[in-house]
Amino acid sequence: MTSFPAPAETVIDLGAIRHNVALLAGRAPGAETMAVVKGDGYGHGALPVARAAVAAGASWLGACSLAEALVLREAGITARLFSWLNAPGVDFEPGIAADIDLGVSSPAELARVAAAAGRAGRRARVHLKIDTGLSRNGCPPSGWPVLVKAAAAEPDVEVVAIWSHLACADEPGHPSIDAQAERFRSAYEIALDAGLNPLRHLANSAATLTRPDLHFDLVRTGIAMYGLNPVPQREDLRPAMTFRSMVVLTKRIAAGESVSYGHTWTADRDTTLALVPAGYADGVPRGLSGRMSVWLGGRRRPVAGRICMDQFVVDCGDDEPEIGAEVVLFGAGADGGPTAREWADGMGTIDYEIVTGMYRPRVRRRYLGEDG
Ligand SMILES: *Cc1c(COP(=O)(O)O)cnc(C)c1O
Repeated sequence: MTSFPAPAETVIDLGAIRHNVALLAGRAPGAETMAVVKGDGYGHGALPVARAAVAAGASWLGACSLAEALVLREAGITARLFSWLNAPGVDFEPGIAADIDLGVSSPAELARVAAAAGRAGRRARVHLKIDTGLSRNGCPPSGWPVLVKAAAAEPDVEVVAIWSHLACADEPGHPSIDAQAERFRSAYEIALDAGLNPLRHLANSAATLTRPDLHFDLVRTGIAMYGLNPVPQREDLRPAMTFRSMVVLTKRIAAGESVSYGHTWTADRDTTLALVPAGYADGVPRGLSGRMSVWLGGRRRPVAGRICMDQFVVDCGDDEPEIGAEVVLFGAGADGGPTAREWADGMGTIDYEIVTGMYRPRVRRRYLGEDG
């Protein structure tokens, strides 16, 4: 197959992933670290991120669906794998055969896992989920004693852990955090009373960074591992993703000329425009038209006019960038360049959505630091 230069690419710095995993593991010295690689590694590529995370000290990997977890196992990942959200039609048998730990939220799901374990001829490793107040998946406290007893009595199931997930850990001091922790502790007592001796895990990135009392046996870190900071305090995290493109054409226009669809931008002076071949099909939000800038030639420069499906235009004033010059759309922001957080703020969302949305067929992914 012929390979063409990509008009836009995400560059994933695996050295940054390793740095961040080591930092997070160091913050939770009494717990093991699970690297969460759902959503194709938050848009960074689940498999390369998984390998980097394991090299940096993560002993667990978290994938949402069994399909995501199986891909990692089949690629040769030997670390513990955890899958916690599966549709009712999913066959657990291949997951159990592949030694993947399963989150279970209800007696009905437990029965399906146990039946699959019988077919697989091996006990299923199960993590019972208590809903401590996020009100998403997990077993409500009212049903917990029944679920725990059923699991304890099920010979085809080994209860490895109990776990839950926090609603507001990114707002340190939010009263729901302690309330959820309290329910989690009660759920643990009930599990002990039923004769179980499970591990416990509750903390996401934000709680890993701010609540050492909630680390328990295992922390599940996602966003911070990718270098994006979910808490207000400063942390030495390195953003792993840079989204870059290039200048493909420059031209001089006269004052009074307008740019792109709808002519929403008009030059107030003679100026040089640079054309960048990336648009909303590549993850550049059209909603940031007229409100974003890029890093080009050692400084910030504003986008002129609307972002289109395949391209946008940068106002370069009297500078004349080279054809092929690098254009950074977002990255680590170290020297003042744009960041995923800045895009998220502009779009009324969170940086999780920006980076996760960068898995695009037309955007090439390239990795740095693969053999660090
Ligand atoms: C996504 C997710 C995490 C990781 O959360 P971050 O805020 O990205 O650290 C942990 N646990 C569960 C259950 C999740 O769904």
